[in-house]
Amino acid sequence: MTTFEAVAEADAEADADRIDLSPEISDEIKYTTCYMCACRCGIKVHLRDGELRYIEGNKNHPVNRGVLCAKGSAGIMQHHSPARLSQPLLRVGERGSGEFKAIEWEEALELATSWLAPIRAQDPRKLAFFTGRDQSQALTGWWASQFGTPNHAAHGGFCSVNMAAGGLYSIGGSFWEFGEPDWEHCRYFMMFGVAEDHDSNPIKTGLAKLKENGAKYVAVNPVRTGYAAIADQWLAVTPGSDGLLVLALVHELLRAGKVDLDYLARYTNAPWLVIEDPGADDDGLFARDGDGNPLCWDAVQGAAVNALAPDIAPSLKERVTLPDGRVGVPVFHLLAERYLDGQYGPDAVADQTGLPAETIRTIAAELAHAAFSEEVVLDVPWTDWAGRRHEQMIGRPVAIHAMRGISAHANGFQTCRSLHLLQMLLGTIDVPGGFRYKPPFPKPAPPGLKPAGKPGDVVPGQPLGGPPLGFPQGPDDLLVEADGTPCRIDHAFSWEAPMSAHGMMHTVIANAHRGDPYPIDTLFMYMANMAWNSSMNTTETMAMLTDKDPDSGEYKIPHIIYSDAFYSETVAYADLIFPDTTYLERWDCVSLLDRPISNADGPADAIRQPVLETLRDVRPFQDVLLELGVRLGLPGLVDETGAARYPGGYPDYLVNHERAPGVGSLAGWRGEDGTAHGVGAPNPDQLARYVENECFWHDELAPEARYFKHGNRAYLDYAVKMGFIGHGDPIVLQLYTEALQRFRLAARGFGDQQPPEAHRNRIERFFDPLPIWYPPAAVDGTAAEDFPLHAISQRPAAMYHSWGSQNAWLRQIHTANRLYISETVAREHGIEDDGWAYLESRHGRIKAQVRIMAGVNEHTVWTWNAIGKRAGAWNLAADAPESQKGFLLNHLIEDLLPPDAGGDRMANADPITGQAAWFDLRVRISRASAAEDAATEPRFDPLPLPPGIRTRPAILRYGARFGEDKS
Ligand code: SF4
Repeated sequence: MTTFEAVAEADAEADADRIDLSPEISDEIKYTTCYMCACRCGIKVHLRDGELRYIEGNKNHPVNRGVLCAKGSAGIMQHHSPARLSQPLLRVGERGSGEFKAIEWEEALELATSWLAPIRAQDPRKLAFFTGRDQSQALTGWWASQFGTPNHAAHGGFCSVNMAAGGLYSIGGSFWEFGEPDWEHCRYFMMFGVAEDHDSNPIKTGLAKLKENGAKYVAVNPVRTGYAAIADQWLAVTPGSDGLLVLALVHELLRAGKVDLDYLARYTNAPWLVIEDPGADDDGLFARDGDGNPLCWDAVQGAAVNALAPDIAPSLKERVTLPDGRVGVPVFHLLAERYLDGQYGPDAVADQTGLPAETIRTIAAELAHAAFSEEVVLDVPWTDWAGRRHEQMIGRPVAIHAMRGISAHANGFQTCRSLHLLQMLLGTIDVPGGFRYKPPFPKPAPPGLKPAGKPGDVVPGQPLGGPPLGFPQGPDDLLVEADGTPCRIDHAFSWEAPMSAHGMMHTVIANAHRGDPYPIDTLFMYMANMAWNSSMNTTETMAMLTDKDPDSGEYKIPHIIYSDAFYSETVAYADLIFPDTTYLERWDCVSLLDRPISNADGPADAIRQPVLETLRDVRPFQDVLLELGVRLGLPGLVDETGAARYPGGYPDYLVNHERAPGVGSLAGWRGEDGTAHGVGAPNPDQLARYVENECFWHDELAPEARYFKHGNRAYLDYAVKMGFIGHGDPIVLQLYTEALQRFRLAARGFGDQQPPEAHRNRIERFFDPLPIWYPPAAVDGTAAEDFPLHAISQRPAAMYHSWGSQNAWLRQIHTANRLYISETVAREHGIEDDGWAYLESRHGRIKAQVRIMAGVNEHTVWTWNAIGKRAGAWNLAADAPESQKGFLLNHLIEDLLPPDAGGDRMANADPITGQAAWFDLRVRISRASAAEDAATEPRFDPLPLPPGIRTRPAILRYGARFGEDKS
């Protein structure tokens, strides 16, 4: 053998031993959109012989750029979950018993129609239609309007409406879906109380970019987990005090003169004149000219002028006398007077925020330094709304991001407005290095949409005549009867929560149970686990769902219809179940009309396509909803002959439904030839074009349109052309929200629409047009001395709501949750690591296993949310850790506040938006005896499995067959 031959032979032997690191894993790849959390990343699904093999991130997708998280990868096991429902179910036992029989789809649809048709004919309000974390709210809201009921909302009121409403009323946009930090140019970044499942992958990649660029990242969160774990500085703020911290920062910046006066004068209502006339009916409103334009004082002309006119010299600081003799004060003057007050000084707020005064001063100084000494200059010429040419884009590189942690408090709306106030004062809204809007935002602040559902709007057999959700701008927009009684079953848009832009899902069951303001007939829910982790006061909520009228023996909520893909806890509490598909089995749409996935450089939307054949007798909920609409003869769903308008189901609707002429669910490839974007006639090939383009559409803004969108001529013209806004006027950012003052004036007795007496003080106190801070106890009245600890939950990065903890792979990361407490609390109460403790609130008591940790505010205890499961649900073993050692804080949280003087009980919520205040929970802790059971409390009877649920193997393995079918 020659040397050459010997080497070749050795190489051949080595090849035989070599591991193939990149085996061919699939014979087909299909693109679609992930649905394992709310982030909606683009994914490539690898299939072999039509079976699911592997999920990969799509590198071209604007949301995730190829990044895939643990949840996204584990979509395989979501699809293979043994908890999947497989056929329509009809309750046969008592409600809550979990006893069902399987029925055919025809019977299920006819039964639902037989319940819904009489309601529509007699009183459409008797249908309450509430959805959870679905991503088709543009369809569900429209369907509710076609039905004629105002009683519709998704889960926003339970989740983060304070963020959305606080932003939309202030800056015409918000965090997450409506805006993002300028990760590329930011030098100083503050993140407040973020939930890890919102904007998940973009934040991870964004934080990595910040770190690469050497920017400073400050995390403000009572708990140091998730993103906060990699922060350069962690501020262990006391829950519910974030707003006070922010106003202390505002105080320091004003004191140091570190605010951007030029930005304020150009883009905000800082110069607008507020009428100062205590006791009058216009006190606190803007002074306006005869055409309704707000006035400001022109320092050169020495006169009141239209504040919206270009080329004026607005004064920010003079109290002036108007020609009609009234006194006007610029908004900036008012806010300076307020926040320079010593009550907002760092020393004054240190105790309540739990942060040293010196730390607050340092943060304020660092913010000022980043904003004013590290300006970002981009050599990108642009033209502002008034036609003025600018050779560069100059920005102040301070960005803020916030989410549920500051939202789910009774002061969350004002706290969110405080954050936007801080951003505006620093001049960091839609500038290089700051916060950037994602198209179709910004919208006018607030958007012009008003909720429909006033007494005259609800007509038997007729559509509602408008959307059930919107943005009230004063008492005249409320949905109340002449005596102030709420029109909606959830009391949204009533005096109880006038600006509840996302509805109040969390109040529906309690109000329906009490018949307040009227009894309903059918509760129709989709993907909302309201008999478990999507309700406060979970124990009593289950009792309300099963409670009967003692006289008639009928359930107090007569009919409950529920649609879900999985055997969640709520299934057992419904009468009729529509089994849904998984996200890999259906057409779906991520629409600009709903909750967009755009980024700051351009709008985007996306679809899901079926990548797997459905082998169970299940149907996409959206198809079911359209079919029900046809059977009910809803006007938008049938033609003049009564035939289905969208006979091809949801994909047909996605392509052909027009919300306004030329505006449909999808913005890409519109027009008959597919060349239009934004506005255009329906294109029969639209879905095919999306599939060709990896299931998404993204339009890149021209460089000159990418910043200052609220006042940028190129962007405003583009937004009009795309149908995002109705006209190209600049969007003025609102430091001072006049709508709040209109409610206050009503509380003072002005106007036709008057609040009931019980609400006057609340409205006067909380509806301040400039951001304020108040302790959550001002709303819920909990005595801190009785319940000295705060209790909150956090979202693990590896799980999304209740879905995650049924997933065989994700369960390997978290199978049970602990109660995390500080060393101080442990010491005070003699509780050891791994020991058990009772947690008691004003409302109830739970038992949980403890873990001691350093990274928590020492007056706060916390746990992961929604890992605790009810035994038997989700087809988990009856002794699964999720039910034996998992627990929910929800049992401790009141859904209603204690009765007021008149005996009324209002929602445990933000008094302005109705946002569920579930992070305001106060508790006390005590050690559980070692002799007691090592299991969490409360416990509930295990739920039996319904028909059609497959046998659960003892160990779920990827690639194993799961029961009879191989899907
Ligand atoms: S972040 Fe959410 S949408 Fe993106 S891959 Fe993970 S689970 Fe899927």
